[in-house]
Amino acid sequence: METIDIAPSDARFGAIRRVTLIGSLINLIVSTAQIAGGLMAHSQALVADGLHTLSDLASDVVVLLAAKHGSQDADDEHPYGHRRIETLGSVVVGLALMGVAAGIAIEAFSHLLQPTHGPGPEPVALAFALLAIAAKESLYHYTMHVAKRVKSNLLKANAWHHRSDVLSSLIVFAGIGGTLLGFEHLDSIAAIAVSAMILRIGWQLATSGVRELIDTGLDADEVEAIRDSILALDGVKSLHMLRTRRMGGEALADVHIQVNPRISVSEGHHIGEAVRDHLITHFEHVSDVTVHVDPEDDEREASCMHLPLRQALLAALRQQWKDIPAAANLENVHLHYLNGRAHLDLFMPLRGPSEATDSVHEVAEQLISTSKQLPEIGEVRVYFRHECTK
Ligand SMILES: [Zn+2]
Ligand SMILES: [Zn+2]
Ligand SMILES: [Zn+2]
Repeated sequence: METIDIAPSDARFGAIRRVTLIGSLINLIVSTAQIAGGLMAHSQALVADGLHTLSDLASDVVVLLAAKHGSQDADDEHPYGHRRIETLGSVVVGLALMGVAAGIAIEAFSHLLQPTHGPGPEPVALAFALLAIAAKESLYHYTMHVAKRVKSNLLKANAWHHRSDVLSSLIVFAGIGGTLLGFEHLDSIAAIAVSAMILRIGWQLATSGVRELIDTGLDADEVEAIRDSILALDGVKSLHMLRTRRMGGEALADVHIQVNPRISVSEGHHIGEAVRDHLITHFEHVSDVTVHVDPEDDEREASCMHLPLRQALLAALRQQWKDIPAAANLENVHLHYLNGRAHLDLFMPLRGPSEATDSVHEVAEQLISTSKQLPEIGEVRVYFRHECTK
């Protein structure tokens, strides 16, 4: 089995770190400007948007830490790698955002319910809102570009977050503008709208992370495509128990394939390897596949569990064959555990052309009838191998 390459994982982490650091820096500048500007220009919506931006900063830090730990390779204690740390990070960020949203909404509602109002927002607040819009729209495009390249769902979620920040700042812009035009509650209403957006983003981030943590599979379409492409492979008769689960930006699959029950172990294994290789090359999310090779459909019945293993079975058979001298010449016994019984392929050498057909038949008949007296034994075939003496 091949081990996971260190290099791509390092490059992935490097890209996630860079885009997150730049996002954090810009968010720090923007949030400072918004909160200071909001307090100065008396705009509740601008302060709310600034807190929103600050919560993005906190979320970026969690993303950064999560990606750092998540990109570590598999070790003895974490044989499937550390990608789930990234997932856990997105759950924590989601919950934090929901908390921030609740805080802003409570603040804005209490302002709306206050009978007396202080001074409303001043025109300079509009300039701060515009600055935020420009900064966040640029961050969205930049982050989404990198997210697609390194296939990080968390980074994609972060990019969408930047995009919804733009909308948030647009609402703030409209709220401030409206209040300046004389609709006095619009600033507080804009603040509540901003909090609803933060709440929604937090909810999505948290629930998608939780779904991954409880092993939700890939989309039905994708599972169907995987099923079809396995069934199209040479040697696969049917499949069952196809299961997928997500891990960071990737997916793991395991599947039982049913093959011809009489082929060799190595051929069955080879078909299994072909299935694994095919899925990893043709499905970009799939990073590992475990294939279980079945000689028969064991989903309906696990039929052979009660049968003894080779040594015990051969001991019982030798007991049955004790009066057949030719049994000592048996070269090989193939056991086929199928349909609740052990089926035998017995291989005997043929003693040259002098050996009479009658005696060959007689030996075969004796082997078959004595073997079949055991209830565990199903079909018995005897093969005589011609030994070329020249
Ligand atoms: Zn193998
Ligand atoms: Zn099985
Ligand atoms: Zn099975």
